[in-house]
Amino acid sequence: MSSVKFFFPDSHDYVDPSFDFIAEKGNQHRIRQRDDYYPHEIFSARPYDGMLVSKAIVDGTEKGSSKYTVAQRQRFFRQGVKRFLRLPHDVPVMGDCGAFSYASEYLPPYTVEEVAEFYETCGFDFGISVDHIIFAFEAAGRDAQKIQGDELVECKRRKQLTLELADNFLKKSNSCRFTPLGVAHGWNPESMADSVAALQKMGYDRITLGGMVPLKTPDIMRCLEAVNQVRKTNTQFHLLGISRVEHVEAYQRYGVSSFDSTSPLQQAFKDSKNNYHTLGGLNYVAIRVPQVDGNPALMRAIKSGKVDQNKAKILEKKCLETLRLYEKREVGITETLSILRDYEVITGIVENKKSLIPQYERTLSDRPWESCSCDICQKIGIEVVLFRGAERNRRRGFHNIFVLHEKLKKNLGLKITQEASA
Ligand SMILES: [Zn+2]
Repeated sequence: MSSVKFFFPDSHDYVDPSFDFIAEKGNQHRIRQRDDYYPHEIFSARPYDGMLVSKAIVDGTEKGSSKYTVAQRQRFFRQGVKRFLRLPHDVPVMGDCGAFSYASEYLPPYTVEEVAEFYETCGFDFGISVDHIIFAFEAAGRDAQKIQGDELVECKRRKQLTLELADNFLKKSNSCRFTPLGVAHGWNPESMADSVAALQKMGYDRITLGGMVPLKTPDIMRCLEAVNQVRKTNTQFHLLGISRVEHVEAYQRYGVSSFDSTSPLQQAFKDSKNNYHTLGGLNYVAIRVPQVDGNPALMRAIKSGKVDQNKAKILEKKCLETLRLYEKREVGITETLSILRDYEVITGIVENKKSLIPQYERTLSDRPWESCSCDICQKIGIEVVLFRGAERNRRRGFHNIFVLHEKLKKNLGLKITQEASA
């Protein structure tokens, strides 16, 4: 167990265990979610300390943002969260409302009663009170600006509303089995600390610090310093959704005992550079081999006559074959890069991006997948560093989650992370 606990947010991230990387297809008769594998089912050791599930993701909001099908939702309620996620009974699951999904509304769409009942009947261990996000924040530095006028009025209204909901939620949860967490929101470190003090006064000793997603590390630090000033010795903080995990260990001294983040997963396929993380701290660029038949931009270029479809398909196949031969040390790096370059020229016409060949050279020559002990790298080898389709991209995200958890467990120091291409 790591000292700071990592909760992995559920967002229907699973992979098809039957996927064949050579044939590029999985079992067509499989039932999504039921036959798929979550990260804790792929790795021999679970790569997180617990999971976080949002009511908004299961249930949807009035605008219908649910990621669950009707059948999945019914099974979730019938089986409870742990059986649905196929998690061992002793793995903690935290629930929240998914306040981002209704941030633009005047009021949260759920009542305190509904939320407490959701946590209780679905078997959550921890339940986060109903909250309403404050978007504005007085960041430090050159762009520092005081929030005032109508914006300040709205910030204060949301802070007060979140506190009233927390007070009510604490009373409701008295007769429940889950442990309640109050949410603190603020628009600067002082208002955040004020929220924490109010929650402690109500009786909370577990407090979630919300609205951290868009904040830069120095601003998170300022907030932690301020809340630490008012923190009672037994109060523990959970950081809700942080986008940078590099400094998370340093947060411990401010009473942070857990956090959740989708960042390691998302960086695998959303970041322009840091796609594949390593224990040593270097990050690598994944090698883009887009599918001719599955890439909308490429399809458009083919239709408009800018790209020759046959030529693209031949090159795509050649890239994959050569990369696999490179993995077996049957082809050299120069030849491999030259084929990747040919394919990049074709796909580059539509993407109009700068060449990534120098970064690919680094990824290929360092062969980071060979020195990773995770079950994914051991099983699929070079496929893990190919930027291509959800089955590969998501597995690379799972590998990044494994790396984050190993760093936390081994106290390797997350702040040594740097880019391999730097
Ligand atoms: Zn790995």
